[in-house]
Amino acid sequence: MSSNTALKPVENIAFIDLAAQQARIKDKIDNALSTVLAHGKYIMGPEVKQFEADLCSYTGAKHTISCSSGTDALVMALMALGVQAGDAVFVPSFTFAATAEAVAILGAIPVFVDVDAKNYNIDLSSLEAAYETNAALNHKAVGIIAVDLFGLPANYEALNSFAEQKGLWVMADSAQSLGGRSNNQNVGQMARVTTTSFFPAKPLGCYGDGGAIFTDDDDLAAKLRSIRVHGKGNDKYDNVRLGVNGRLDTLQAAILIEKLKIFPEEIVSRNRVAAYYNENLSNIIQTPFNDDQTTCAWAQYTLQLSEKNRQYVLDQLKAAGVPTAVYYPLPLHQQTCYKDYPSAPDMGTCEKLSQTVFSLPMHPYLKPDTQDYIIQAVRKALT
Ligand SMILES: *Cc1c(COP(=O)(O)O)cnc(C)c1O
Repeated sequence: MSSNTALKPVENIAFIDLAAQQARIKDKIDNALSTVLAHGKYIMGPEVKQFEADLCSYTGAKHTISCSSGTDALVMALMALGVQAGDAVFVPSFTFAATAEAVAILGAIPVFVDVDAKNYNIDLSSLEAAYETNAALNHKAVGIIAVDLFGLPANYEALNSFAEQKGLWVMADSAQSLGGRSNNQNVGQMARVTTTSFFPAKPLGCYGDGGAIFTDDDDLAAKLRSIRVHGKGNDKYDNVRLGVNGRLDTLQAAILIEKLKIFPEEIVSRNRVAAYYNENLSNIIQTPFNDDQTTCAWAQYTLQLSEKNRQYVLDQLKAAGVPTAVYYPLPLHQQTCYKDYPSAPDMGTCEKLSQTVFSLPMHPYLKPDTQDYIIQAVRKALT
């Protein structure tokens, strides 16, 4: 290539390529949808039960309660745990709004915790500081919601032991990490209760909204099945507790059954893509945390700049035809809706990260030549 020839992408680069996945299993999805249209059981049809059983065998969780979204999964799980107005729940500030929203919508108090700059997950020393801050405010601390940000499981060993000392429960917001593993446990097995999302852009996405809750606790599972259908007792006209309309559509379950079949292979592909990015970028920019004990689900591949020159880098990449995204441009404790809730005394890490991180295209169908092009464009933008 002569030096005055501008680098051109080999194709239109997708940030997440759902079309390539659909093309791969289009016949199977068409068949699955036709089956549902033929039997007509649109609400809680046989595919919902089948998908829940498939997820139990995939995750190793004893119970899977499918539901209407990742946000509803959080709200339903908090309701099942008995969270009351005025209770305090510790949440990381560097996450999607739903994590704190689910707490606040029940009248409980999200207490914001800073994250670890190395892995973007809740920081243990900040959690201890937030615990003290909350104690001084005299709010009753009941639990912790950890988020597996960008697909990397949080440090549940440490979180579970801190929670046990303080009499708190631990919930995993695993909206981004289904398919992840850590210390020989799957996502879905690491906390008292785990929630996930099937929003189309998540690692396992449907063609609309959907979510699920995992637990080994029989009592919690029974409560969740009741809460999902208006707090039903023996039937839906017997109301024994407050609930919601939180069901997963049969059509989405039918799609998800087919997608789950290829999901283990897609997780392997995502890890191959991430490893190749790491190999070719780690000498010029901070690449994501990765070790032998952990499998990340790579919902996002996120880089961290050392200086606040992000807009320049993003503009260069845009000009080269490389799509990027910023997760998250403002931590929750600085958002209009959440700024009056308590937070740990020092929130400096997530405040800095919100100005220095950006994410590259990441999906299982990223072709090697396209990835090489993206890597060249990033290296060029950084020099
Ligand atoms: C996507 C997401 C949610 C919400 O899931 P929805 O299905 O969109 O409601 C919650 N928490 C985190 C961390 C997420 O990334």
